[in-house]
Amino acid sequence: MKKKSLAFAVIICVMLFGALFYRNLWENKGFERTEFLFDTQCTVKAYGDNAQKAVEAAFDRLYEIHRATDFFSEDSQVATINNAAQGEAVIVEPHVQNIITAALDVSKASLGAFDITVAPLVSLWDFSGEGRVPKETEISDALAYTGIDKISFDEKNKVRKAFKEVKIDLGGAAKGYAADEAIRVLTEYGVLGAIVDLGGNISCMGQNPNTKDGKWRIGLQKPFSATGEYDEIIEIKSGAVVTSGTYQRYFEKDGKKYHHIIDPKTGHPAEREYSSVTIVAQNSLYADCLATACFVMGEEDGRALAENFGAEIYFK
Ligand code: AMP
Ligand code: MG
Repeated sequence: MKKKSLAFAVIICVMLFGALFYRNLWENKGFERTEFLFDTQCTVKAYGDNAQKAVEAAFDRLYEIHRATDFFSEDSQVATINNAAQGEAVIVEPHVQNIITAALDVSKASLGAFDITVAPLVSLWDFSGEGRVPKETEISDALAYTGIDKISFDEKNKVRKAFKEVKIDLGGAAKGYAADEAIRVLTEYGVLGAIVDLGGNISCMGQNPNTKDGKWRIGLQKPFSATGEYDEIIEIKSGAVVTSGTYQRYFEKDGKKYHHIIDPKTGHPAEREYSSVTIVAQNSLYADCLATACFVMGEEDGRALAENFGAEIYFK
C-alpha cells in the first residue's frame, strides 16, 4: 500500500513538473504576429494567458487607428480634414482628437519644431515615392500654409483650417499613439507581458519572461548599419522607446541624402550632426512627437524639451 501511494505521489509530481515546464516553455515563446501597416513592419508579441486573442485584438486597434490617420486613404479622417474648405468644421473622432491634442501641445512646447501642418512640404519632397528636390519657390509657397496658427481645434473635436490649402500629416505621431493603444488592449486582456514594435516605436508592459529581472531590453540601432547592429541597450520595465532617424526614410540625389524630418521653419530636411534621436518615456504618443521635435531642434534645445516632459533622450 505504502509503495503504491509513493508511486502515485511520484507520478503526480512528474505530471505537475511537466505541466509547469510546458507552461513555462509556452510562456517564454509567447505569441507573435507581424503585419505591414503604417508603412512599416509592425510586430506585436505577448506572453501568458490570452496571448493570441490579445495580440489579435491589439492588431484590430492598430488597423482602426491606421484607417483614421492614413494620409493617403481618401476615407481617413485626415483626408477629410485635408479636403475640407477654408473655415469648414470637421468633427474628428477620439483617436484623432487624442493625437492632435498631444501634437499641438508638443508643437507649442517646441516652438513649432513639431508641426502637423508640414504636410504640403512633405508632399513636395515625395518621401513616400521616388523622392524629389523641390524648387525654392515651391517651398516658399508651401511655407505660407504651414504653422499651427493655420488650424484651430475647438471644443477638442472640431478642426478648422485658415486656408483650404492647409493640410495635416500625423505621420510623426500616429505610430506612437497606436503603440500606446495596442498596449492598452494587451493590458485589458490580462497578458503576462507584451512588446509592440511599430518600426522604431517600441512599447512594452508587464513581465518579460525571458529575462531574470522581467525587464525588456531594447537595442538602439547603429544609424545606417547594414546588419542592424546595436549601439546601446536600453532596459525598461514598461513604457516607450521611440526613435526618429534620418536612415528610416530618405532618398539620394546627386550624391546628397535627403531625409524625411522637415524643419518647418525652412521647409528643408533638418540638417543636424546626428542621425537619430531616441526618446524613452512612459507615454509613446508624446515620445513620438518629442523624438521628431527634438531631432529638428538640435541637441541643446532638444535635451531641454525632453527634460520638460520628464523623458530621457539619446542622440546618435
Ligand atoms: P517620425 O518618424 O516620427 O520622426 O516622423 C516623421 C514623419 O512625420 C515624416 O515622414 C512626415 O510624415 C512627418 N514630419 C516630418 N517632419 C515633421 C515635423 N517637423 N513635425 C511633424 N511631423 C513631421
Ligand atoms: Mg515622431
